[in-house]
Amino acid sequence: MKKETIIALPGDGIGPEVTGVALNLLQTVCRQHNTDLEITTLPFGGSCYDQYGQPVTEEILEQCKAAGTVFLGAVGGVKWDNLSGDLRPEAGLLKLRKELGVFANLRPIQVHPALSSASSLKKEVIDGTDILIVRELTGGIYFGKPRFTSEENGDPFSVDTMKYSRSEVQRVARVAFEAARKRDGRVCSVDKANVLESSRMWRSSVLEIAEEYPDIELSHMLVDNCAMQIIRDPKQFDVMVTGNLFGDILSDAASMLTGSLGMLPSASLGGGNGLYEPVHGSAPDIAGKGVANPLAAVASAALLCRYSLKLEGAATRIEEAIASLLAAGIRTADLYSEEEGTTLAGTEEVREWLLDAVTAKTQTI
Ligand code: NAD
Repeated sequence: MKKETIIALPGDGIGPEVTGVALNLLQTVCRQHNTDLEITTLPFGGSCYDQYGQPVTEEILEQCKAAGTVFLGAVGGVKWDNLSGDLRPEAGLLKLRKELGVFANLRPIQVHPALSSASSLKKEVIDGTDILIVRELTGGIYFGKPRFTSEENGDPFSVDTMKYSRSEVQRVARVAFEAARKRDGRVCSVDKANVLESSRMWRSSVLEIAEEYPDIELSHMLVDNCAMQIIRDPKQFDVMVTGNLFGDILSDAASMLTGSLGMLPSASLGGGNGLYEPVHGSAPDIAGKGVANPLAAVASAALLCRYSLKLEGAATRIEEAIASLLAAGIRTADLYSEEEGTTLAGTEEVREWLLDAVTAKTQTI
């Protein structure tokens, strides 16, 4: 058996619930592929603040960097909402991404045929949608300096800075062009070049990289138009590459194509490291109720197999188990609509169903 080490950061709210299911599946499927996973679970976000007075400690960061492969649930919650900026759970997340150097966030958005009626959009609009959003993750306005709040003539004001360098744009653009080579060969770069200097830098930097990829069709779209096009005609997109802020917003909008935020996985790659997390947050409104949809986390585990462990067979096995669960009509509350042939299930039932699916498949191989 090959040995692999990963760090699990379940976090807050529904984070531990969905992480539990995902890691259970991951361990089972990896074992089937002759890989023994050593998983170290550490506190992170609000739960880390409660224990250590900060959302992530230097020691935890060091352990994550040493392992190189990290699985994260979700962070945040009302309990920690009034903490100052750098003590908030989300600050821990930004720090982790930065320290790991994972500059490219890959968010696949595929509409499962069995779920096309769960979306708020028409079936004919979303059927066949298969988009890969590549979001720049360690630069832009979430990290730019200066960043402060002050006062002018008794009127308080705040400043954030959106900064992008050519090299930051080009390394993430390369990830997008490489991904497009394995897909439909098209990249759409999204910016706000009609208004923002940083977007003009973004566009010219992407254009330079495009010269290395004459086989890939490059287009540019303004972010406001893109928000509309994602809803109007999502099938027009193959790979989309964009900055941190725009990618954050566009990928949440795109999540509704799939029916629920609870369906979207993500992989953040860079510097030889991989950070895998569902796109959704800690969903405090449903935490502890046993109703969270764990499929985004489970699909993130599949991406971990694909990109960090290089176990394509294991990744496919997990993805097929998800597809067969949906085809069998099993739905968590976020997806359930009393449609004929569907059954409402809780988080634990989904876990058992998926474990049965991957185990049964082994027996028939
Ligand atoms: P959220 O994603 O937590 O929830 C938005 C809505 O979607 C809620 O109604 C929630 O119940 C539902 N939802 C989300 N995931 C679901 C799942 N797996 N199954 C079923 N329903 C699901 O976003 P929010 O409410 O804006 O934020 C809540 C907290 O999460 C905040 O503290 C926020 O800062 C944090 N947050 C964390 C991350 C992260 O850890 N990566 C991302 C976004 C938000």
